[in-house]
Amino acid sequence: MKCIYCGSEMAKIKTSVSASWGKYKIEIKGVEPYVCIPCDRKVYDLEEAKMIQEIARGYADSGLVEKPEFLNVEEISNLLKVSTQTIYNMLKDGRLSASKVGREWRFNRNEVEKLFAPQAVAARGNTISKNDLDIINSLGIEAD
Ligand SMILES: [Zn+2]
Repeated sequence: MKCIYCGSEMAKIKTSVSASWGKYKIEIKGVEPYVCIPCDRKVYDLEEAKMIQEIARGYADSGLVEKPEFLNVEEISNLLKVSTQTIYNMLKDGRLSASKVGREWRFNRNEVEKLFAPQAVAARGNTISKNDLDIINSLGIEAD
């Protein structure tokens, strides 16, 4: 599989995926996404994406944890798989809006997700559906 951004050949690499909500964290070991090393992007195949989604959804639906409504710069950059500098640039040129709490920016999760949904689909290729991606993204899953 070739990376849709840089055209490099992607390698299947064994890694783990972790998801956290508040103080809790779950880790799924042994997943094998295609990884583009130059741009640090990962693409999961349908089966793995579904598995991750099911685990995450069960966890989120358990009612034991609260999904944070507001995220800081670091959390947003993890969610969107971009650098914190990109987030600051987007704040500066008005593509992202946030409010300042003390010295920290706070982003509304719902607004950011709406803004980024189409890019998130493109970023991961065609191997998982938009619905899968929306769920995965909304749960804030990221691969280590
Ligand atoms: Zn690439």
